[in-house]
Amino acid sequence: MAWTLTVTDLKQYTYCPRIAYFARCLPDVRPVTAKMEEGIAAGQEEETREQRRQLRSYGFTTGDRHFGVSLYSAALGLTAQVDLAILRPDGTEIVVPVDYKLSRTVGEHFKLQLACYALLLEEEMGLPAPYGFIYLIPLRRPERVPLSAPAKRKALATLAEIRTIVAIEGMPAATARRARCIDCEFRRFCNDVL
Ligand code: SF4
Repeated sequence: MAWTLTVTDLKQYTYCPRIAYFARCLPDVRPVTAKMEEGIAAGQEEETREQRRQLRSYGFTTGDRHFGVSLYSAALGLTAQVDLAILRPDGTEIVVPVDYKLSRTVGEHFKLQLACYALLLEEEMGLPAPYGFIYLIPLRRPERVPLSAPAKRKALATLAEIRTIVAIEGMPAATARRARCIDCEFRRFCNDVL
């Protein structure tokens, strides 16, 4: 496998394919926006709160919590850091990924990201990850997300698509949801959409 993708590549690609393309093919032009900094800071604050939060907010009474778990798979060519992994909740032989988001809704790009965490954790821990949680920070609420075999296959297929566009340096189509372009940090490169 030529190079390693990150789970962030996948999230960006799902949000708009061009963002993943620009981030990979023009890595020096990407500014760090206030929105990005806000998201990073919110995630770090949430980890501190999570240390105090009880497992019962996820519906469990027992389980081992591991925060900020760094993951890498040579087989998948993928690296990531998951906010929280809950091992063997309530004595079950599973692992549950948790991702904190500064959002009020669970977008498809968040689900794909969670599916990648599941694949990486399954390989690392040797346990199945049949579901996970997106923790919506503004609502202070975890949303349970099923991580079925089709969801994981979709995540793998998306990673393959990203590899193809980066390898051929072919700019993909813009997102059909043009409202996303309004506050996009790459809008100056997308004269055809605005
Ligand atoms: S401006 Fe729109 S099409 Fe261009 S990268 Fe941003 S979201 Fe995608």
